[in-house]
Amino acid sequence: MEKIKMKTPLVEMDGDEMTRILWQMIKEELLLPFVDLKTEYYDLGLPERERTKDQVTLDSANATKKYGVAVKCATITPNKQRVEEYHLSQMWKSPNGTIRAILDGTVFRAPILIDSIRPAVRNWEKPITIARHAYGDIYKATEYRVPTEGKAELVFTDKEGKETFRETVYNFECPGVLQGSYNKDSSIRSFAHSCFQYALSTKQDLWFSTKDTISKQYDQTFKLIFQEIYENEYKAKFEQAGITYFYTLIDDAVARVIRSKGGFIWACKNYDGDVMSDMVSTAFGSLAMMTSVLVSPDGNYEYEAAHGTVTQHYYRYCRGEQTSTNPIATIYAWSGALRKRGELDGLSELMHFADQLEGACLDTLNDGVMTKDLVGLVVPGTKVQAVNSADFIAAIRERLEKRLA
Ligand code: NAP
Ligand code: MG
Repeated sequence: MEKIKMKTPLVEMDGDEMTRILWQMIKEELLLPFVDLKTEYYDLGLPERERTKDQVTLDSANATKKYGVAVKCATITPNKQRVEEYHLSQMWKSPNGTIRAILDGTVFRAPILIDSIRPAVRNWEKPITIARHAYGDIYKATEYRVPTEGKAELVFTDKEGKETFRETVYNFECPGVLQGSYNKDSSIRSFAHSCFQYALSTKQDLWFSTKDTISKQYDQTFKLIFQEIYENEYKAKFEQAGITYFYTLIDDAVARVIRSKGGFIWACKNYDGDVMSDMVSTAFGSLAMMTSVLVSPDGNYEYEAAHGTVTQHYYRYCRGEQTSTNPIATIYAWSGALRKRGELDGLSELMHFADQLEGACLDTLNDGVMTKDLVGLVVPGTKVQAVNSADFIAAIRERLEKRLA
């Protein structure tokens, strides 16, 4: 069989621990035999980040800007314990944070559904994608405990040094807490563009929710910016694609999401997205079945699994044990990136391959062949066979070959 050709390289970001092992297995078994894989390789594994003083992370993000599509393996975000474990000269920043800062994107997370794992919410039939604004609000807030009685004020001084606002927040009659949080129009605009573009690219309705009735300036600004950008730049395109944009209050959105059949994108402010993405992923099944893609406002895509490097499995692997780590979300990162590359380069064969690769994963799961993490989640009475990662990937390959024959 002739291998499928590529035009533009994919930016390949390798990673750490168990997912690095899976990465290699996926390439060898599911990609290289079928695709004449063209990638620009960046090793974001912690030893290489240490060796290059994290330059490799910056280079990989800039390459993503250049080529437009990247696929990323999970990576360790170092903490104190990792600094010792890997003899690091510094506690390097989270690669995802660095990449996000350079690409200025929004993260979209969507679950992969199979028939034998029913969502906790009975009426959900299609995936719900959460789009989380990954900048500002309480994540960049200034806060402290108020020690005693006194007046708290919100003051703004412009760059000429003129005080333009001074508002009393509260006259404290006892100790308490105080917080100042912010966001920027430029970041909210990027968030809006990413959401509208992703909705168009996946042909799904877009919902957006905030609490603008209570937060009459802060949340209201989010609502108005989305509305303005929609009207001016996306309304016609949405109508043409047959999809809708819908704004509602966050509490109304929660009620509607639970009653819905799924199949839409739910855009959330930073904190709402943090909380709701965990709620939605748990209700759909498992973190190991959650895909994630970073979409920048100027249309760059970085695909990855939502989970981390599965450290405990890696330690077992290092002791020579077989592990049953689920590679599905990492395979979908590859298929998502290959499909997008195919779309941008006009390579229908590559897009077809991505579809077949995902199809082969679903065939395998639907045949009851799965990794251990999923076994406890299936509907009672389903016949399942728990396998290790290597056997699981081999089972997917068998079905992929059948589909491509
Ligand atoms: P994790 O790697 O996602 O693992 C948490 C637990 O979830 C695992 O111990 C495992 O449970 C289960 N799990 C996750 N993915 C699985 C899979 N594919 N197959 C089977 N089980 C899976 O999160 P973590 O333990 O909090 O973090 C580990 C490392 O990953 C950290 O160094 C962190 O910095 C990094 N991390 C990276 C990213 C990223 O690059 N995007 C995201 C999150 C975390 P059992 O042990 O019960 O089997
Ligand atoms: Mg969270």
